[in-house]
Amino acid sequence: MRVDVMVIGAGAAGMAAALKAKEEGAEVLLVERDERTGGILNQCIHNGFGLHYFRQELTGPEYAERFQEKMEKMGIRALTNAYVKRVEDRRVILVTEQGIEEVEVGALVYATGARERPFGSLMIPGDRPSGIFTAGVAQRLINIENRLPGKRALILGSGDIGLIMARRLTLEGMEVVGVVERLPYAGGLLRNVIQCLEDYNIPLYLSSTVVEVRGRERLEEVVVAKVDEQFRPIPRTERVFKVDTLVLSVGLIPQVELIENLVVKNPTSRGVGVSNIGQTSRDWIFSAGNCTVIFDLVDYVSYEGETAGRYAAKFVKGEIPREKIPVRPGKNVMVVHPIWYTPAEPLTLYLRVKKPMEKGRLVVGRFAREFEDLVPSEMLRVKISDRDLEGLDEIVVSVEEVN
Ligand SMILES: Cc1cc2nc3c(=O)[nH]c(=O)nc-3n(C[C@H](O)[C@H](O)[C@H](O)COP(=O)(O)OP(=O)(O)OC[C@H]3O[C@@H](n4cnc5c(N)ncnc54)[C@H](O)[C@@H]3O)c2cc1C
Repeated sequence: MRVDVMVIGAGAAGMAAALKAKEEGAEVLLVERDERTGGILNQCIHNGFGLHYFRQELTGPEYAERFQEKMEKMGIRALTNAYVKRVEDRRVILVTEQGIEEVEVGALVYATGARERPFGSLMIPGDRPSGIFTAGVAQRLINIENRLPGKRALILGSGDIGLIMARRLTLEGMEVVGVVERLPYAGGLLRNVIQCLEDYNIPLYLSSTVVEVRGRERLEEVVVAKVDEQFRPIPRTERVFKVDTLVLSVGLIPQVELIENLVVKNPTSRGVGVSNIGQTSRDWIFSAGNCTVIFDLVDYVSYEGETAGRYAAKFVKGEIPREKIPVRPGKNVMVVHPIWYTPAEPLTLYLRVKKPMEKGRLVVGRFAREFEDLVPSEMLRVKISDRDLEGLDEIVVSVEEVN
């Protein structure tokens, strides 16, 4: 079998990419390992999706539905229950219900999303009882399988996912005894701290971490201690929480495994490195979404998916410029995306700062703008005009602290 553009992963990025590639005239095949399209959106039943893209506040499934309906109207072929096992030179090996298939592709859009950092990676000493879940698994159990993970829970990690899970578990009848965060400030948006914790009287323990888990078969106790500035536990600050459930919301990792031997990675996000048109270091492979960098908002994922899909189709038609100017992080910048700039399209930069700053001046080529209340957990999205980048052979992105 041969297709012009294959899209791997039918989450927000993949669906947007498939639509734009089709609009550009390509024959598209969208491949998804799950039984339905939509990706992580299917289990996010809270609202807060689509404020930029649709100028409306939708739930995750509602957001996904808008793309699914459009895909149906446009006759996009979505192959679900199909797992991509290997990507080779312009060939993709799939495991489908019919068996193993090999597809030759003109271009590929890789949109496999992210996975959650597991318990094992945290090196927490103690027993290994049941009752420890990643936030995504707990969310899937509740929102899709209609099962509660336990009765009394503690949450580790105060990013938006941890905060949203604190509210969800409470609304479903569990007692949430607190959210533990090693940073001196909450990781998620202020609006989520208020709407998910304060409104439900759930305590937030800052500068703290889990130092031990105890329990024979099922989790019984979690020991939490204060940490110093290097996140080292401070002796004699331990506090014991009697809980049967520990929910971990300690970060997402871009899922790059299938193509990591084929493409250059973004050293700052550890995701697939792409240009502003979604192209990787291998000209026929494009990529978008959380497998490139962990985005705050699904709207951004959709925009990036659209760009990657459109340019993947253009690549098949031989309509793609070759120029790629490197983009790299400068002072106070922890994450920058994309890592190349191709002048065919304006440069939309996504970045995270290294430390909280009351005021910072973002400098990119001839572009400079001041921003207030910068924190590493909030992604900054800025459009840079071509004029500000003219003549540069390298683009350095820095943020100067303004006093
Ligand atoms: C708990 C939670 C709450 C969130 N809340 C908000 C919010 O309030 N507002 C907001 O804007 N955003 C929110 N987000 C973020 C937003 O949902 C994500 O950024 C976005 O949906 C990610 O889309 P994606 O396409 O990159 O990845 P995904 O949705 O993860 O899609 C990737 C797809 O690839 C498939 N796949 C992976 N590997 C293979 C393979 N080998 N073969 C076939 N298929 C494969 C997966 O099954 C999956 O369907 C939230 C995210 C989470 C997890």
